[in-house]
Amino acid sequence: MVNCPNCDAMIDVDEDDLDEGDTLTCEECSADLSVTGLSPLELETQEDEDEEDEEEEEDLHYDEDADEDEDEEEEEEEDWH
Ligand SMILES: [Zn+2]
Repeated sequence: MVNCPNCDAMIDVDEDDLDEGDTLTCEECSADLSVTGLSPLELETQEDEDEEDEEEEEDLHYDEDADEDEDEEEEEEEDWH
């Protein structure tokens, strides 16, 4: 049995089965825990911060061969007589 560092609930795992780097999920608070040490047993909550890379490619500067004259060709209206 180990205690959840987040909510202090008992987690039903055998300490002997844990290895450093293992991950557990607390059933009480749904925290994701990782084993950071074995003697003494240390658990660490894995915070769910999505650190997304904010590197959106900006395709704004298209200077290569952008000289296409896209003048809209006016479609000649067909005369409906
Ligand atoms: Zn918990």
